[in-house]
Formats: sequence, C-alpha cells, structure tokens
Amino acid sequence: MPPDVQQVPAATVARLPLYLRCLEELEQTKVETVSSSRLAELAGVNAAKLRKDLSHLGSYGTRGVGYQVAHLMRSIRFELGLDEQSPVIVIGLGNLGQALVNHAGFGDRGFPIVAVFDIDPNKIGRRVEGVDTAVEHLDNLETVVAAHEARTAIITTPVGAAQSATDRVVAAGITSVLNFAPTVVQVPEGVALRQVDLALELQILSYYQPRPETSPEHGARDENLRAAR
Ligand code: NAD
Repeated sequence: MPPDVQQVPAATVARLPLYLRCLEELEQTKVETVSSSRLAELAGVNAAKLRKDLSHLGSYGTRGVGYQVAHLMRSIRFELGLDEQSPVIVIGLGNLGQALVNHAGFGDRGFPIVAVFDIDPNKIGRRVEGVDTAVEHLDNLETVVAAHEARTAIITTPVGAAQSATDRVVAAGITSVLNFAPTVVQVPEGVALRQVDLALELQILSYYQPRPETSPEHGARDENLRAAR
C-alpha cells in the first residue's frame, strides 16, 4: 500500500460488514437516510464509535439528516473490496466443509465456492451440490487456484492437517485464509488470516454466566461484572 494511503484500523474493518448488513436491511425497507445513532443501535455499537469508524471512509453524514443509505453502502463495499466476485476454495470436505458448501449465502455475497479439495480417495471425483466441479485432490491445487483466480481458502481439515493445508494453499497463490480448525495456523506476511472457533466463543460466553460463589475469586469476579453493567 502506498505510504500516503491511510490504513483503516483492523477493529473498524471488522465492524464494516456489520454496518453494511444493517444498511442492506434498511435499503430493503426503502429507508433512504439513517442517523448515526439509529445505525449504531441496529449494529449494537456505540454511536461515537460508529461515527469514528465511518470517518475513516471519509463519510461524515449530514447534520440533522444522517447518512445516505445507498451512498454509505457503496463506500463500505468499495473499502472492503466487495465490488467484484472473489472465488473461494474449501479444503476438507467433511461435515463442516459440506455444510459450508451447501450454504448458498456465500455466493450471494460475492464469494462463490469454486472448488473443493480433500485427500480421501472415496471423496475425490464425487460431485457436490453447491459446486460446479467434482471434489479435487489436493495435488491439483495450483492448477485449480490459477484457473479460477481464487484468492481465498477455507480450511476445514482436522487440526493435524490445518497447518500443512494452509502452507499448501499459500504456496498455490491464496492470499486470504479462513481457518475453522481449532488451532492457530501461521501464515507469511502479506497473507490475511481469520480464525473461526465456536468453542472459543462459548468459552468467552461462559465467563459471563452467573456462577455460585465457591471462592473469594468468584465473588470478586461477579462484583466486577455487576459494576461493569
Ligand atoms: P471431518 O473429519 O468430518 O472432515 C475433515 C475432512 O478433511 C475429511 O473429509 C478429510 O478427508 C479431510 N482432510 C484430512 N486431511 C486433509 C488434507 N491434508 N487436505 C485436505 N483434506 C483433508 O471433520 P469436520 O467435522 O468437518 O470438522 C472439520 C474441522 O473443523 C475440524 O478441525 C473441526 O475441529 C473443525 N470445526 C470447527 C468448528 C468451528 O467452530 N470453527 C466447528 C466444527 C468443527
């Protein structure tokens, strides 16, 4: 990125898709303008934070009117690079891989799943609903990635295969990795990585569960939580 281009903070980037979804819902109900406080309420964030986030896009809204829904959607889509289709490949066609491939929502949002890879001989060559091509062996990775100009890979292999699968997709030219295997994989500089782990989310939620006061530490924790609300 050229040095004079301001980089949008990662936390802001992570919230932009949420704002976009809220704006899409507003547009569907024919709403043309929205105030920052209303959009913040819909997105479940603080209004000052939302205004700061959108200022990184050069969107400040108009006092007393708010933001133009269609214009703000275009700005966010542009910033996120959602203007064109971005082909995705899936590595590991097990329970989760199959569920993701079956989900039509990715294609609708500009992320068509163009190929699926596995190493199980019983799966290779099989047709899968939701993908135009049959399941490919991992050995064909480079050819398929190049043919489809795919940039993103979803990793749904067992933990033990996640790092090697990541290394292989990166070597094949993939520059964005979405890892579902519950392990931290490493990627080289220049490759974007997101990890999705629902068990981890449940563990975070667990912290907020009321618990019996079995120890002084628990008592102090609940006290802090009450104070934070
Ligand atoms: P699964 O065992 O049903 O499927 C794994 C698939 O990967 C199999 O088809 C297997 O042949 C294939 N595979 C193994 N090594 C491979 C390799 N090197 N290259 C390509 N394919 C390979 O498992 P699952 O239930 O679908 O789960 C997949 C992964 O997702 C696991 O790591 C699991 O822990 C994880 N998972 C994550 C979440 C989450 O919230 N992120 C939820 C459920 C499962």
